[in-house]
Amino acid sequence: MIDEKGILFILSGPSGVGKGTVRKALFERDTELKYSISMTTRPQRNGENEGIDYFYRSKQVFEEMIENNKLLEYAEYVGNYYGTPRDYVEETLNSGKDVFLEIEVQGALQVKENFPEGVFIFLFPPSLEELKNRIISRGTETEDLVTNRLLAAREEIEMMDAYDYVVVNDKIETAVSKVQSIVRSEHLRRERV
Ligand code: 5GP
Repeated sequence: MIDEKGILFILSGPSGVGKGTVRKALFERDTELKYSISMTTRPQRNGENEGIDYFYRSKQVFEEMIENNKLLEYAEYVGNYYGTPRDYVEETLNSGKDVFLEIEVQGALQVKENFPEGVFIFLFPPSLEELKNRIISRGTETEDLVTNRLLAAREEIEMMDAYDYVVVNDKIETAVSKVQSIVRSEHLRRERV
């Protein structure tokens, strides 16, 4: 017998560690997973699309979502809100499909309170120096924001022990294969005869 509900996977870790890159590469390999698109109040970056990368909303709309309990989790991160719309996640899991979240650490810890059965994966940078280089080379942030993102990263790394798995992202292909193995193993672990 297989549990009829889908599995909730949470990929988290500091900004700049490569969560987005790992997630996109994973979705090219695994077409069964469903990605939960987050809502944010941060401005849209060049190359990003509404409803694909994020749902871009005003602070007012976001705060209404919070008040109406429409977010599974949310966090204020470097001056902007980010959150996971609740309905999509619950409906998709109930329909038997797996859902994949890619979120920062405060939000992941909130998800853990409501979904302790979720699978929590922490993507770890090869080093803080490398993390700084990656944030800078992305070129989308001012100097102040780079400093704030690095400060946030140090705090986020301290929460690593709360996760089920830690994957070091020094080679992207290796990290993606590891996350894919975790997804497969968690399915096997829940199968019962
Ligand atoms: P960025 O501005 O670089 O797209 O995202 C900043 C941080 O917010 C990243 O660590 C990203 O994973 C995280 N993030 C994206 N969506 C969500 C969400 O729905 N909830 C939370 N808590 N964090 C999110």
